[in-house]
Formats: sequence, C-alpha cells, structure tokens
Amino acid sequence: MSFPEIHKKLLIGGEWVESESGERFEVTSPGDGSVIGTCAKGTAKDVQAAIASAIEGQKALAKISVKRRAEMLHDAARIAERRAEEDSVLLCREVGKTIREARDEVMVYSNPHYGEAAEGLKRLRGLTLPSTQEDSNNKRIIVTHEPVGVVGIISPWNWPNDIPNICASHGLAAGNSIILKPATTTPFSAIAVAEIYQEAGFPAGSVSVVSGPGDVVGEELVSNPGTNAISFTGETTTGERLTRIAGIKRLLLELGGNGPLVVMDDADLDAAVEATITGCFYLAGQVCTASERILVHAAVHDLYVEKLLARTKQVRMGNPLLEDTDMGPLNNWANARKVQAHLDDARARGGRFLIGGGSNGLYFEPTIVDGVTSDFLMARDETFGPVAPIMTFGSLEEAIEIANETPYGLQGSVFTRSLKNAFALGEGIRCGTVHVNESNNYWDQLAPFGGMKKSGLGRELSDWAFAELTETKQITFDLSRS
Ligand code: NDP
Repeated sequence: MSFPEIHKKLLIGGEWVESESGERFEVTSPGDGSVIGTCAKGTAKDVQAAIASAIEGQKALAKISVKRRAEMLHDAARIAERRAEEDSVLLCREVGKTIREARDEVMVYSNPHYGEAAEGLKRLRGLTLPSTQEDSNNKRIIVTHEPVGVVGIISPWNWPNDIPNICASHGLAAGNSIILKPATTTPFSAIAVAEIYQEAGFPAGSVSVVSGPGDVVGEELVSNPGTNAISFTGETTTGERLTRIAGIKRLLLELGGNGPLVVMDDADLDAAVEATITGCFYLAGQVCTASERILVHAAVHDLYVEKLLARTKQVRMGNPLLEDTDMGPLNNWANARKVQAHLDDARARGGRFLIGGGSNGLYFEPTIVDGVTSDFLMARDETFGPVAPIMTFGSLEEAIEIANETPYGLQGSVFTRSLKNAFALGEGIRCGTVHVNESNNYWDQLAPFGGMKKSGLGRELSDWAFAELTETKQITFDLSRS
C-alpha cells in the first residue's frame, strides 16, 4: 500500500502557519519505517503566540450561547464521522496499532466525545443555596460553573486521537480555549481533531495546535502563566516534572500504570484468559490500563497457564494495516528499549519464558513469563509491551498486598465467582478503577477515569471532565439592599 506524504503546520489564531523557526520534523510509520510526512516544529515563541490568540479565542467562544456551542459539537461529530475511515488509517500508520484497533479508537472512543460533551454541556447546572446567616431571608447564594480559561492539552502517542479529544471536547463545551501539543511520533491524529473543530466553526484562537518537542513546547505551555489549566497524559516521571514547573494552575494528570489482574481459585478461567489476552496484547501492551501483572491463585495456576498459552499461540502479529492482524509493532525505539530491558531483567532473575521473548525491529512477540516475583522490573514498573508476567499467590490477603505494592494505581481487574471476594478485592485494591470479571483494558465514556497514587491526579470523561475544566463560583445577593 502506498500513501501520499502529509505535510502539516501549526494552528495559531485560526491560521495554519509554519513555526517561527521554519523548522520541521519527520514522522515515520513503525509498521514499515516509511515516511508518513512532516510537521512544523514549534518553539517556545510559537507557544506564546498560541496562548495570546487563545486568550482572545476564549473570550469569543464564551460569548457563544450554550445552544449554539452544543450545535457546533454535534456538527463536529458529523464531520468526524465523514472522515472516520481516513483518520483510522492515518492513526494505524502513525501509531502502529492494528487497523481494527485504530477504528476502535476513532469510531468507538474518540468520535462519541463530541456528542457526549454537547449533551453534558446541557446538564451543566448551578445551584441556589440557603444562607445560614441571621437575616437569611434576605440572602440568596448562587453557584455557577465558569470556564477555567486557556487549557493546554499535552498528549501521548498511544491514543493520539482519543486522549486529546476527551479534554478538547469537554473543555470547548465548557467555554475554554484549548491548545493541543501532540506527541512527536504521532502528531497527525491530534491535528485531525483540530481540523474537525475548525470546520465545525469554533472561533479563531479557541483551538490551536503547537506540535514540537515536549521539553520545549510542552514545558512552555505548562510554565507560561497564560495557561490556566493543563491536561497532561504521559509517563509518571514527566508528570512529576510538570508539577514542579506549573505554578498554581489546574493540573489534570493521567499517568502510568502497572495494573494487576487477579485470578481467584473460583474464577471462570476461560473468561480470565480472554481478559488477559486483551489486557496484555491489545495495542501490543502499550495501554496505560494494560494488565501489567497477572496474579494467579496457586490452586488454579497450572490450568490457567495451560489455557493462556494455547490462546496466546493464536495471536497473529504482523502488518497493522491488514484486517486479520491481531497485534502490530511497538510505536518507538525508546519504548522498545524499555520493554527489552524488562525482558532481559526477567531472564536474569530466572523467569520462565513459556512463549515469546524475541523481537524483530519494533515487532515484539506476545510473551508469557512465569515465576515472576515482586523484585522483577516488570513487577515494579510499567513495561508497556506485549508481556504477561505471571505471579502466584495463596490467599486473598496476599493478592491484595501484591496488587498494592507498586507506586501505581490506575486500573485493577479481578476474576472471581464470589460476591464476597469481589467486594474484598474491589475495596482493597488501591486503583482509580477496579473491574470485576472484566479486562483491565475496559472503560466507559460515562464513568470517571483516572488514577490513584503515582497514576495521576483528577478524573476525566463525562461530568468529571467538566468538573476539572470549570471554576466553581459563588455569587451572593443581599436582597435587602437592592
Ligand atoms: P511521555 O511522558 O514521554 O510524553 C507524553 C507527552 O508529553 C508527549 O506529548 C511528550 O512530547 C510530552 N512531553 C515530554 N517531555 C515533556 C516535558 N518535559 N514537558 C512537557 N511535555 C513533555 O509519555 P509517552 O508519550 O511515552 O506516553 C506513554 C505513557 O503515557 C505511559 O506511561 C502511559 O501509561 C501513559 N498514559 C497514561 C494514560 C492515562 O490515562 N493514565 C493514558 C495513556 C498513556 P514528545 O512526544 O515530544 O516527547
């Protein structure tokens, strides 16, 4: 398959422009190494220009009625639907996720955000409160939700269309202007989202894109006092750095994970195996919610592992653009080096490789490592590759202890037929979400999403995104003086 090269610019003040430096960077496809195209390489000055235009764009957007804003979001949904297949192919090429996974991201996850945000906007209501003062009959307290202002959205490469769009859709709905800073290996999908908003009629300056290096463009967005909120999704170490340079502004941080999947001795093993396949091998394991540690009760270990091995042999790795491929390559070499270091560490510590462990370039085989203990790198840190590390436990208490022993707390998953076990694990595991009898790689558009501990700050999706992207304001009236 051959595709024409794509060349994109920065979106500042409603115009697509070159970077003030004139520099560009190349984007290649991890699937076959081919050049997809080039993108303008933004600088700190470009960010400053985008912020200045976003301040004006926000004022223009805030003047537009709620009804009209909701209509523009519904228009955006229709535009996104029209170009969904084209955007899915582009996403497949720049991330390396399979075409079926790419369609999932664009059509199942990202495109519904436009409509969800439009509907949520209509539900965004204030309050009228009684006063506790002596002359309370004369007092009225109203509580409203105002836009935060300018929101910088810094996004990772693994969900480059959906993740920026969660905050873009809800942020714009709430009357904020947004500035997108996409990941350098996958800028085109976020640019596609910005094109959709522009075509839907969002005013100049309310939507900007400054692509370019994280340590330049991202740091300027975070540290510049002109941004009022930052929505950052990426590695925990990057998030920690941003907390040090942000100053006082809203920070919504969606960071790394090391999700446990617990298989109790009373679990439906076939369901647990299917969830493990999705949890470990979907997007080659490069999902923040991935099953990074499989905790199996000793009583069912052998049978579970036998079933998992048989099922893993069916996973077809290959060209992500082909319809029957189940798993594509890793996205980039930095991640590949990290996955390789985790595999090497597991070998050195005596982990038993039941299948996989090899790689060809960015293509890493689906891998099962048995006999993993808490000291393994893959048990302590996020691997972000197609690896199922098997750890064994003997009691529910031990399972909870192992599940909680890492600094992360994004999504946990437990398989059991007992309601008592389900509650004990659901309440005992310190994660923002715990699924019972469902894969770690599951989330719902209407439910709060976010992490505990070093997996993040705040919650996004649906009404929770509005809570993060608005200021709650009190206005008090004294009627006796009016
Ligand atoms: P990074 O932290 O490397 O990068 C994320 C974004 O931040 C990129 O746009 C990057 O730009 C930018 N960036 C890098 N350095 C800085 C900096 N100093 N200041 C400001 N911005 C910066 O993460 P990855 O892209 O590697 O993404 C993978 C990580 O994201 C994993 O840890 C994963 O778990 C996490 N993630 C979390 C999710 C969640 O909801 N909790 C969801 C999805 C992923 P550039 O590309 O130019 O380096």
